[in-house]
Amino acid sequence: MNSDRKYSRREHPEDSLVKINDRITIGGPEVVIIAGPCAVEGRDLYLEAARLVKKAGASILRGGAFKPRTSPYSFDGLKEAGLEILAEAKKETGLPVVTEVMDARDLEAILQVADILQIGSRNMQNYTLLREVGQVDRPVLLKRGFAATIKEWLMAAEHIMDAGNERVILCERGIRTFETYTRNTIDLGAVVAVKELSHLPVVVDPSHGTGRASMVRPVARAAIAAGADGLLVEVHQDPENALSDGFQSITPEEFRRLMAEVSGITTVIDRQIYRF
Ligand code: PEP
Ligand code: MN
Repeated sequence: MNSDRKYSRREHPEDSLVKINDRITIGGPEVVIIAGPCAVEGRDLYLEAARLVKKAGASILRGGAFKPRTSPYSFDGLKEAGLEILAEAKKETGLPVVTEVMDARDLEAILQVADILQIGSRNMQNYTLLREVGQVDRPVLLKRGFAATIKEWLMAAEHIMDAGNERVILCERGIRTFETYTRNTIDLGAVVAVKELSHLPVVVDPSHGTGRASMVRPVARAAIAAGADGLLVEVHQDPENALSDGFQSITPEEFRRLMAEVSGITTVIDRQIYRF
C-alpha cells in the first residue's frame, strides 16, 4: 500500500487526535461512546433517549434525520424537523451530536447542528460527497462501505483529507459476506489493520456490524479489547416499535450493562471510558 498518503501512519507516525469540541477528543487514551437511536423519530422519544444514554455514560449522541433506506417506502427520517430535535437534545444535554449527511444539498442545514458529520456505508464511495465534507471545518465519521476493502476505505478517507479536512474518524460497521445469520460480518481484524496502516482513530459500530441486539454487547466488548477508540451504539426505548433498525437496537437498560462491561475491558488495556 502506498505510504505517501495523508491517512498513512508512515507519513504521520503518531496517532491523530480528532478534537470534537473543547472537551472531547477521539483517538486518545480515553474511549468515547456514541449512542442513541438509529433515527430521530420524534421529539419526546428522542429527548428521553438522549437523557438516558447520557445518564448511562455516553458522551456523544447519535440519530439520523436523513436516513438511507433499502426500501423507498420505509421511514426515511424527519429531515429538517429531525435536525431541530437534535439541536434541542444537544442544548439540553450539552452533548455533541453526530448525524448522517446523504446529500451535499443538506449540508448547510446539517452544519447548523452536527458536531460530527456521518458518511454512511452506502456513500463511502460517493467521491463528490466525500470532497464536499472535506471542504468544511467539522469532523467526519466515515463508515466503511459494506463491500469495501480496507484499502478502499482508507482511500475514501484520503479523499476527505485531500479536500482539506484531516479530522476523519473511521467506523467499522461490518461487511457483506456469505454469512446470513448476521446482517453484516463485523471485521474486528480491520480495526487492528487500520491502526497499523493509519494514524486515524477508529470506532466500531456493533449494531450494524451484527444486526442483532443480542450480539451488540459481546461485540462491543471485543471491539474495545481489539483497540477501537470508541463505539457507536443504537439504543431505543422500545426496539420492537422502532421505525428503523429495531432488531439491532438495545434498550437503555442493556446499554447500561454494556457500559459497565466495556469499562471493565478498558482497565485491562490501560484505557478508560471518557466521561462527559
Ligand atoms: C446508521 O448509522 O444508522 C446507518 C445507516 O449506518 P450504515 O451507513 O453503517 O448502514
Ligand atoms: Mn441504523
